[in-house]
Amino acid sequence: MDKLRNLYQTVIMDHYRNPYNKGLKGYPKVHLKNPACGDDITIEAKVNNGVIETINHNGTGCSICCASASMLCLLMEGKTVEFARKEINKFYNLVQGKDGDYESLGDANSLSGVASFPARIRCATISWKALEMVLEGDLDEEREI
Ligand code: ZN
Repeated sequence: MDKLRNLYQTVIMDHYRNPYNKGLKGYPKVHLKNPACGDDITIEAKVNNGVIETINHNGTGCSICCASASMLCLLMEGKTVEFARKEINKFYNLVQGKDGDYESLGDANSLSGVASFPARIRCATISWKALEMVLEGDLDEEREI
């Protein structure tokens, strides 16, 4: 168990230090803030024919929130909107500690530990919530969660 925890910690820190698709390019976006932790994340996505062709993130926050945004971009790039909706819901279940098959979430599995820290769940889910809103076309300047 300790080995697994260490591995997860490594995956989280890798994404935190070398984030995937960080930097916005001007696509439809949602900007969310989590005042409880100071997380401030924007997710943008270019969707074409039901496929997420491009997805980027930007912002500041704790290692969990920044790593999670990076994992989200890595997972969703090139995938269908249908896939994204399914995986977003799976991720919400994962971080709430619910049983399930989460293999398809890839690196995001490393965030399962936040289930033991309810105050950190929002850190992990903020970017996923933002993508959910982008896919719904629920765009806005800035919101708190
Ligand atoms: Zn946070």
